[in-house]
Amino acid sequence: MAKLQPVRGTRDIWGDEARRMEHVIRAFIGVAQRFCYSKISTPVFEFAEVFKRSLGEASDVVSKEMYTFTDRGGEEITLRPEYTAGIARAYISEGMQQFGVSKLYGYGPMFRYERPQKGRYRQFHQLDVEVIGAADAGADIEIIALGQQLLEDLGLAGKVELHLNSLGDMDSRKAYRAALVAYFSDHKDKLSDDSKIRLDKNPLRILDSKDRGDRALLGDAPKLSDHMNTASADFIGAVKAGLDALDIAYLQDDHLVRGLDYYCHTAFEFITTELGAQGTVIGGGRYDGLIEQLGGPPTPGVGWAAGIERLAMLLDETPPQVRPIAMVPLGNEAEARALAIAHDLRLRGLAVDTAFRGNIKKRLQRANRINARVAVILGDDELAKGVASLRDLDSGNQREVALDDLVEKLADELAPEN
Ligand code: ATP
Ligand code: MG
Repeated sequence: MAKLQPVRGTRDIWGDEARRMEHVIRAFIGVAQRFCYSKISTPVFEFAEVFKRSLGEASDVVSKEMYTFTDRGGEEITLRPEYTAGIARAYISEGMQQFGVSKLYGYGPMFRYERPQKGRYRQFHQLDVEVIGAADAGADIEIIALGQQLLEDLGLAGKVELHLNSLGDMDSRKAYRAALVAYFSDHKDKLSDDSKIRLDKNPLRILDSKDRGDRALLGDAPKLSDHMNTASADFIGAVKAGLDALDIAYLQDDHLVRGLDYYCHTAFEFITTELGAQGTVIGGGRYDGLIEQLGGPPTPGVGWAAGIERLAMLLDETPPQVRPIAMVPLGNEAEARALAIAHDLRLRGLAVDTAFRGNIKKRLQRANRINARVAVILGDDELAKGVASLRDLDSGNQREVALDDLVEKLADELAPEN
């Protein structure tokens, strides 16, 4: 029997952290809806094939990080390590191409077998947006603007920088790949073991390496911008012009390659310096070959994913909750009255806390702990008089209000818009 603890790399999320994450998700839904994206939820697990085919066998995620198992029916199943492959699979399965451009958003848990540390977990949560069916730079611009808007709504824009690069089209990547292989082959003895393998399988990925020795070689490495054909240069030029027009600042980052195989053209990350090596809060780019690689019609796409935990950690403070009304009854009759009053207040849209048990002192302590605005005290005295005592928990002032007028009065005074 395993210990009564969550599995390494997984966590119970509650209290302040749960509120922060919920705040991030709410802000995201608001922004996604403002941009007219539609919600999609895909299954938490898919056939392993979906991820192997789209991310590539050589990717870190497929080769080292996936939770894959054979189910009781003998199917090879993977817990999703990211959203894009599942959404691309859904686009094909659901025949979405008939609707023209699909603009989709979703969020939920992802699973990767990684070394757990701050901001890096084995079950973590992502926000995700995708535009499928548009080859236009306008889609790249919009999706980056959506990310920027989210950061602004969360008050995080000042803490994060947008890094941008182009991976070019197939031809440009091919030429670049050859130049990279030539360069790194000359320095093969200095490469990490992982990067020696990457040199054969996917040399671009060496640019993404976190190994110090590898990184030292990057300064003199060839740049993709020197191997880019005109069409590729025009594309990223249009994206940059669009960002300029929207006043979205970016840094050209020649070493930015996304970790996954299917990216082309635009690659970007919103990075903060406040979370150490876990500084990337949003990462995305264009993936024109993905849907075809999965067996669908040739279909361009662009999107990003954000780490909800990382965004939540960056928030300056836990967002305040609506301050509730606390019911503080004493005795059976008062208890019953309190439940009825709470029910009426909630029908009027107010937040009301009931504690079910404890003496008046205990309940007032709880009312303060949850930052209640007022306490409705219902003791024997009050019931005999047909009143409740309303205690303002900021000033400590207390007054009596007739039970018949109570709901009306509180609804007036504490209506959500006040
Ligand atoms: P990293 O370089 O940090 O490993 P990544 O390139 O693997 O990130 P993506 O696959 O682009 O990350 O995922 C998008 C975002 O999801 C990341 O920018 C990050 O905010 C978040 N993320 C990725 N892996 C984890 C994880 N194991 N735990 C928490 N958040 C994660
Ligand atoms: Mg990773």
